[in-house]
Amino acid sequence: MVVGLDNGGTCNNATVLDATGQFLVNNLVENPSRVLDGPESAVESLAQAFTSILELTSTPRSLVRAVGLDTPGPASAHGVISSKGATNFNQVSWHGFDIRGALETRLGLPVIYNNDANAAALYAHHRHFGAAAAEHSSVAAIVGTGLGGGVVQDGKVIRGAAGMAGELGHVQIPLHGVLDDGQPVPKCNCGFEGDVESIASLTGIKNNLLPYWLTRFPDHPLAGEPLGKAAKLLRGLGEKEDPLAMAVFTQQAKAIGKLFTIAANFTDPAAYFLGGGVVEAAPHFRQWFLNTVRESTELRDEQAKAATFALVADLDMAGARGAAVAALDAVVTAAR
Ligand SMILES: [Zn+2]
Repeated sequence: MVVGLDNGGTCNNATVLDATGQFLVNNLVENPSRVLDGPESAVESLAQAFTSILELTSTPRSLVRAVGLDTPGPASAHGVISSKGATNFNQVSWHGFDIRGALETRLGLPVIYNNDANAAALYAHHRHFGAAAAEHSSVAAIVGTGLGGGVVQDGKVIRGAAGMAGELGHVQIPLHGVLDDGQPVPKCNCGFEGDVESIASLTGIKNNLLPYWLTRFPDHPLAGEPLGKAAKLLRGLGEKEDPLAMAVFTQQAKAIGKLFTIAANFTDPAAYFLGGGVVEAAPHFRQWFLNTVRESTELRDEQAKAATFALVADLDMAGARGAAVAALDAVVTAAR
């Protein structure tokens, strides 16, 4: 057995995975993450989540071989929080903190770390390919406040030398065919211009797309709302085919298509996964969005025949489940 722990800004989510690949938990099991109280409280909360999920599933602790942990980044490949801190980890005591090592010491079990987007990508891959996961490759783009992602090769997440592989949001894309004539080049918080996140994220809508499109639809009802609130209202309007909302989401889908075109020429994956808020939208809207991404991804005929486009399911549980998949894989690999 392995346990998966997903650490978020307010809650931890936990799951248990057995050696046959079955999850023993079918719903969200959460406890407060206490990350804002600092590392000590947060590690203690993760330990509580671990104990609670074993009790809930009647799993004896002696059967647990490893724990998978995921947190939001930026962090190293082995779970050292960035020396500059991070959104959820802005207290000085978090800067450069080894959350993986601290949890390993606290639990006395091996802890395998992934960032949350990589964990979600890994879960999407394993859910889609099942027993054949190790024979396939995939790429996942998850649209949220930012644009998270992951690249999976032969069933394993590509981590990179510094743990920064799969930062798909910060891949710069050709903007021709994405932006309107005269539209300013979108800027990202990372300092880049015209990367995927500057367009395909909630932050990109608020900072770049909405300010521009409101100049084209000056009488739109959203013109009277603060940008942050208006950005969040946009998906509901997209479901009703509001022209401004459709213009914004079309640009997002095209940007992701450009990203997937780069992926096609880079790792030529067997599957392209799309996740995030759009997956929770009305079925007709999310299907339209996925179709637009697919149409904007330029594949060679051979690739188009070999590739699948799919939505990432169970996104709220994907972090904990992906973390558990990584832990099980580490246990199996170590046993060989
Ligand atoms: Zn960026």
